[in-house]
Amino acid sequence: DSVKPTNFIHQIIEQDLQNNLNDGKVITRFPPEPNGYLHIGHAKSICLNFGTALKFGGECNLRFDDTNPEKESQEYIDSIIEDVRWLGFEWAGKIRYTSDYFQQLHDWAVHLINAGKAYVDHLNAEQMREYRGTLTEPGRNSPYRDRSVEENLALFAQMKSGELPEGSCVLRAKIDMAAANINLRDPVIYRIRHAHHHQSGDSWKIYPSYDFAHGQSDALEGVTHSICTLEFEDHRPLYDWLIANLPVPVVPRQYEFARLNLNYTITSKRKLKQLVDEQHVSGWDDPRMPTISGLRRRGYTPVAIRNFCDMIGVTRSNGVVDMAMLESAIRDDLDANAPRAMCVTQPLKVTITNFPEGDEEWFELPAHPKNDTMGSRKVSFGRNLLIEQEDFEEVAPRKWKRLAAGEAVRLRGAYVIRCEEVIKDAAGEVIELKCSYDPATRGANPEGYKANGVIHWVNADNSVACEVRLYDRLFTEANPEADKNASFLDCINPESLVVLTDCRVEPGLAEAVAETNLQFERLGYFCVDKASTSERLMFNRTVTLRDSWAK
Ligand code: ATP
Ligand code: MG
Ligand code: MG
Repeated sequence: DSVKPTNFIHQIIEQDLQNNLNDGKVITRFPPEPNGYLHIGHAKSICLNFGTALKFGGECNLRFDDTNPEKESQEYIDSIIEDVRWLGFEWAGKIRYTSDYFQQLHDWAVHLINAGKAYVDHLNAEQMREYRGTLTEPGRNSPYRDRSVEENLALFAQMKSGELPEGSCVLRAKIDMAAANINLRDPVIYRIRHAHHHQSGDSWKIYPSYDFAHGQSDALEGVTHSICTLEFEDHRPLYDWLIANLPVPVVPRQYEFARLNLNYTITSKRKLKQLVDEQHVSGWDDPRMPTISGLRRRGYTPVAIRNFCDMIGVTRSNGVVDMAMLESAIRDDLDANAPRAMCVTQPLKVTITNFPEGDEEWFELPAHPKNDTMGSRKVSFGRNLLIEQEDFEEVAPRKWKRLAAGEAVRLRGAYVIRCEEVIKDAAGEVIELKCSYDPATRGANPEGYKANGVIHWVNADNSVACEVRLYDRLFTEANPEADKNASFLDCINPESLVVLTDCRVEPGLAEAVAETNLQFERLGYFCVDKASTSERLMFNRTVTLRDSWAK
């Protein structure tokens, strides 16, 4: 437990600082593409980029990598801004957009053309694939590769002006069609797209590729450490080639780390979008989604997510992290910090026959058993109570810790009661228990007999009606993408959401505000849903008290 997880990026930076690289500056950036909501994988990148800047006294930029206008939107931009802030991070200066640099990027493309290092190519996509070669075979030069600088400049200007239709040609960097690294075989750096852009409007008819935009944007922002996931390792030679061949103001460096994979969920924006679009979930912030907004609505806290990201460390080896680790991070936080309350989710009527009709008694219970500073809450006891149906069996099974006919149990924070009579309906269903209470057992053990255990309860006369949503893992398979002959949609957990509509909570929760975290005693950790109101109180189960998935 006390072993500190590795963060090899921090080790590299410590080295860089010792060598006085970049005059001791550390500038990072978090570069989401606004084509979906952020997920738990992004949280790892956010904690790494912002956390690294904080640790080394540097700065971290938030940059929208917005080079694919058709897939992007303002809704996604707004959600990303909200999620990064909610996680507790603040970026340096204003929000950046790659689209802010379109003019400069264009000018650098012209620079490459003038240097004889870029050309306009008319091969179609299929031909281009064929000319590219394979891992074992070198590629071949395009017949358009040796065009004159003048011709390339004129054609690129036509691409830019919108005279040429989409797909008719592209601009490619002229590097080496025989390079062992396929990314260096004359990569496409500009495409024609007659699309409306959410930031730059209709001013551009050409858009830079990820590779052409990313490193140059880093350089423009003075980024020193451009941290990305391992899929981009093979792109690093291209990143470095572009930086070396353009008059950029500073030389950023790319470092790669292993992306986060989490079992029992998926972390692909495309697939998460499919879950939303096909209404398998209620939206991007459905509490079952691994999105930041979904986790938030589920009751996860920023500190739990940050602790989780610390726990998993940063390495270069790909692996799968157990969902139980994320769940244990939120359990640890809520165990220490969530106030306790009682909620009865499937009520069974209990009448305390020796408690006077019309009377009530108020108890002050601690909000948290181990933390006095959290204060107390008021709970009322009376003649008409409710307990959980599951906490009663007419005939007690062996080692039964709850209520049974003729037996005694303690009501949490109140008295010991004994079940004197079981009332059933015509169908034989238990509908009410007539019980007696022992007035001597408030804060004291019963004398001459034993209580089975402790159960939770509420007062039927003043508890508050509410809805409880029991959320569970979204998929039944550890790897929902494992079966190549099936879709990840086939293993959606049909019990990932169970809605209980006839629940009752302590009167003190009548006005509970959205996002309040609670422990419902014996049931789990819950939070007040964002759409909850005092007319319709709604609680979401964040996580059970213990790991019920452990084998
Ligand atoms: P997806 O594959 O879900 O679309 P992406 O990498 O295309 O993800 P971006 O918006 O480009 O999404 O990601 C922004 C940053 O977050 C990138 O630097 C990316 O490397 C990082 N990131 C994305 N997914 C993960 C993950 N699972 N683990 C760690 N970092 C991630
Ligand atoms: Mg990306
Ligand atoms: Mg993507």
